[in-house]
Amino acid sequence: MLKVLKFGGTSVGTLDRIQNVANIIKKIRDEGHDVIAVVSAMSGETNKLIEYAEYYSKTPKLDEIDMLLSSGERVTSALLSIALNEMGLKATSMSGREAGIVTDNAHTKARIEHIDTTGMKKAIKEGNIIIVAGFQGVVQDSLRVSTLGRGGSDLTAVAIAGAIEADVCEIYTDVDGIYTTDPRIEPKAKKLEKISYDEMLELASLGAKVLQNRSVEMAKKLNVNLVSRSSFTPEVEGTLITKEENIMEKPVVSGIALDKNQVRVGMYGVTDRPGIASAIFTALADANINVDMIVQTVGVDGKTDLDFTIPKTDWEICKTVMEKFRPETENIDYNEKICKVSIVGVGMKSHTGVASKAFTALANENINIRIISTSEIKISMIIDEKYAELAVRALHEAYDLDK
Ligand code: ADP
Ligand code: ASP
Ligand code: MG
Repeated sequence: MLKVLKFGGTSVGTLDRIQNVANIIKKIRDEGHDVIAVVSAMSGETNKLIEYAEYYSKTPKLDEIDMLLSSGERVTSALLSIALNEMGLKATSMSGREAGIVTDNAHTKARIEHIDTTGMKKAIKEGNIIIVAGFQGVVQDSLRVSTLGRGGSDLTAVAIAGAIEADVCEIYTDVDGIYTTDPRIEPKAKKLEKISYDEMLELASLGAKVLQNRSVEMAKKLNVNLVSRSSFTPEVEGTLITKEENIMEKPVVSGIALDKNQVRVGMYGVTDRPGIASAIFTALADANINVDMIVQTVGVDGKTDLDFTIPKTDWEICKTVMEKFRPETENIDYNEKICKVSIVGVGMKSHTGVASKAFTALANENINIRIISTSEIKISMIIDEKYAELAVRALHEAYDLDK
């Protein structure tokens, strides 16, 4: 079998942990499998590098940020390869570029355009274990290094698994699978044996960082057998992320997600003219900002209010874009002391009363809901950040997820 393995920041967080990863890889190799391992930077490293850049500038050039951040995963890939060589195994590290990962030029959140697997295939044929530096690629035209967005090593692993048609892609982290909610917030959370791509995609997009959302999207598109498991207890089977039809039992609600990385932008007294929403959201899209929940209130006297949320990381750029609309707006304010709690489940499609149960659970805790949005398989609510954990636990209990 050809296995693509990915080891996250905590799993390679110290030199001893990197040795532990080398031992896991050796065991898999000894079982006769070919291995491509994708690694993250040591935990905390990427944040530290971002802080270094912020020491000089709040708006550094993004290609320089990519140059800086990509170094973290290169360190771990080389160290892991050195550790494996020392154990008598043939291993070679590769940067994203050497692994053939070509992206667009959206620095710090680049999209993979294609992967040229020639180099990896050759190295495997020569009997190598390949250690790929995650989270990075090379921009087609400029040949500058690019990074794939936070948590992007998951995407590197899934994209490689898809391109090289690996048998499985195992994401090793510090929890032994996907739980009904973050087990660090609710210790009563239960591990799921399987979860559908669509539910996992919602959970990941709504804040469950256990898998990066784009990696799940890609796994679904390329039909990758994706497994989430732990490098701390590698003997424990993890959670399989798979097609909905492979899952027999479909609970109404599968999980709860929490996202504290949102900012609520309020535009009050906006001139209510045709095309205003289009102008605002086109400008935000052009600046590569992911707008999430949007609410527009009914216009009065030619004025309307617009509320929407964006990721905290896009806040600075968003402020610049918003300045263009000052002349047409009475007031713009930003609130970062909010969070988004969401419930996710494919079973919602065929059940009624799911949303009202969530609203009641929060009301019972005296938590005010500020924005609500729903889709076929999820309900999201913006609430004050100070109630985040309380809300997660209340919802977890309301849907009997601990049972
Ligand atoms: P890595 O560094 O390995 O990429 P992350 O920190 O990105 O790991 O993701 C793992 C973390 O995700 C866990 O430690 C856990 O706190 C968190 N998490 C959030 N939601 C869930 C969930 N539903 N199931 C499991 N873990 C979750
Ligand atoms: N090191 C990067 C981050 O912290 C990528 C990753 O770990 O997946 O976001
Ligand atoms: Mg991660």
